[in-house]
Amino acid sequence: MEFEPVIGLEVHAQLSTKSKLFCGCSTQYGAEANTQTCPVCLGMPGTLPVLNREAVRMAVMMGLAVEAEVRPRSVFARKNYFYPDLPKGYQTSQYELPLIEHGRLRTEPEDGEPKVVGITRIHMEEDAGKSLHEGFGEGVTAIDLNRTGTPLIEIVSEPDMRSPQEAVAYLKKLHSIVRYLEICDGNMQEGSFRCDANVSIRPMGSEEFGTRTELKNLNSFRNVERAITFEMARQQEVLEDGGHITQETRLWDADKGETRSMRTKEEANDYRYFPCPDLLPLDVPETLVEEARGSLPELPDAKRERFMTEFGLKDYDASVLTTSRELAGYYERVVATGADAKLAANWTMVELLGALNKDGRDITESPISAENLGVLVQRIEDETISGKIAKQVFEPMYAEGIDPDTVIEREGLKQITDTSAIEAVVDEVIGENEGQVQQYLDGKDKVLGFFVGQVMKKTGGKANPQQVNQIVKEKLDARKG
Ligand SMILES: [Zn+2]
Repeated sequence: MEFEPVIGLEVHAQLSTKSKLFCGCSTQYGAEANTQTCPVCLGMPGTLPVLNREAVRMAVMMGLAVEAEVRPRSVFARKNYFYPDLPKGYQTSQYELPLIEHGRLRTEPEDGEPKVVGITRIHMEEDAGKSLHEGFGEGVTAIDLNRTGTPLIEIVSEPDMRSPQEAVAYLKKLHSIVRYLEICDGNMQEGSFRCDANVSIRPMGSEEFGTRTELKNLNSFRNVERAITFEMARQQEVLEDGGHITQETRLWDADKGETRSMRTKEEANDYRYFPCPDLLPLDVPETLVEEARGSLPELPDAKRERFMTEFGLKDYDASVLTTSRELAGYYERVVATGADAKLAANWTMVELLGALNKDGRDITESPISAENLGVLVQRIEDETISGKIAKQVFEPMYAEGIDPDTVIEREGLKQITDTSAIEAVVDEVIGENEGQVQQYLDGKDKVLGFFVGQVMKKTGGKANPQQVNQIVKEKLDARKG
């Protein structure tokens, strides 16, 4: 039997506010353990939380960016559970009445059609602390509460994704948007952007959902794809052996490449959610929504559309170039030098991103400035060099961070467009290859390519290919008499 997966993602994004959600403590990452806490974020009796307005504004920006509805009134709830990194015994979150609902996100899966994924809700909550298991001796766990109370948004998707690739595309798009908005640094290693996946499978064509498992600890795009792929196969095996899937939380072990059971899923009511008695319902004033709307930058979809109309790019190219705000900005600066937009797109995507990927760098670390790449493209356009030679120019530009004209000059790569110089080489080649000349005269037109190739070789690839073609043909045809 053929199965298809049903995938929904829950993404936690840490908002880049300077202070925590309900107190003035710093959210700075990496400080000495337990130096950024106070009675409020530790939940001491008698303390009262005060909501951080900036965090609300950022959450609203996210809601607007995914075309969602911002609820005029939402309610903070206590989610009660016991865990060592949550000494107060509850996490302040939102439950029945979240701040944001009913959004949508356009995604571009690799090797797939663009797809719109529904967003069920986005709610605000505070983060918990961290348990540390290393460096304290056998069997000892230490607790760092610096992260306690850090503002998060949890973005819950509809179960709309049907392959691991679609899930990754959705996650990448979300990641790109929080960074465009500058509301989250997106750092997956430090846990400021993290994802859980709900995965079930069902017979192809079935409308009903299967029992799902929740996968935790997915800390990179690659691990999301691997974990979902593994889990799909595991569930299929269970079903084919006549077993049934247990609803549970499973941990992804990247080293072993497998998921393993962590705990059976508590029902939501096990958390005994109830409205937080210390916080009034959150009434979002229209002015705050307008303020958030006013601070929205041009988002990836709008930029993609503009790149297509303004620069004549294909959908795919425009999508790649708008993946991040930095990359889009780089490309726009290349074009601003006066370089041809399509050629500039090719050089940015193929040559530059190719080289950067190989080195594990991103566009902000490019050794080639946008201005220099723009000049390189123009040197192809004004025929100073051919596209092929340009690749030779690109290498030292990348390695040494120098401009293309310096490379062209230093290595003598200027294209030969002087007709008499090319004619001289063509004559030479014709003189050395009487056999091939005879073949041409006998009607074997294909041999033309041989002559062109020989001329290019003799000139180190620097002769203008169109001119060479033309001159070779003229000279050979002249032999026909
Ligand atoms: Zn605090």
